[in-house]
Amino acid sequence: MGKVYVLKEPKKDKAWNIYALREAARLKRWFQGVYYSPRLKRLLAVFKPTPGTHVNMLVFEEIGESILRDAYKMECPRGCNRCCVIRSGAFIVENELRWLPKEVRDRITKQPSELIRTPGGWVRIYRLDTETMGRCVFFDVEKGSCMLEKYGKHAKPVVCLLTYCTVFATRDGKLYLKKGYRVHRDGRTVIHYEEVDKRAWSRMVSRMGSVWVRYRKIYREAGEEAST
Ligand code: SF4
Ligand code: SF4
Repeated sequence: MGKVYVLKEPKKDKAWNIYALREAARLKRWFQGVYYSPRLKRLLAVFKPTPGTHVNMLVFEEIGESILRDAYKMECPRGCNRCCVIRSGAFIVENELRWLPKEVRDRITKQPSELIRTPGGWVRIYRLDTETMGRCVFFDVEKGSCMLEKYGKHAKPVVCLLTYCTVFATRDGKLYLKKGYRVHRDGRTVIHYEEVDKRAWSRMVSRMGSVWVRYRKIYREAGEEAST
């Protein structure tokens, strides 16, 4: 079994976490997904860089690939959009801009930004959550999709790639929904998943997506009012 790298768990230190995100962004093209390991009782942001790639071991750790055998892969099904539409908290780290076309970079650099002193030096982050109710500037309300997707599956900000609600998961081609969780005596969170069929999965997507659907209705009405 080969080795894979996972991002160390975030700390209660914003500067450190931003530093870790910047380092993770460097390896974005080798990002494999976020998994929940029942054995480790932990979410794992998994990267498989090609041999010879520099990996910053201050923020990454190496694990055996066998850990992923019984792990659930976190999923973000189309139609939910909850993370993008209100209070998204979305932002992008400056080193991620280089993979985006100039017109997108220009749009981002006009966004409010923050310069943060991290253990790896100053890092600028650009806020993307500046539309009404914290909607992300790259969220297409009508289509219900991220406008950055067309530039490749790793074009989204690393924070978006790494953040999951943990409601939806897959394993060995099967669909799972979170049934609940409990905090273990070691302080770690144990997530319980239940296998479901496609109908139950779709019902949950619709339930979660109701926030976006309501938002879109108001968005359309506001658009109609503005045009009259
Ligand atoms: S709440 Fe979950 S499924 Fe919905 S957009 Fe966020 S991560 Fe995706
Ligand atoms: S960048 Fe894309 S995925 Fe991230 S919050 Fe914005 S619309 Fe959603």
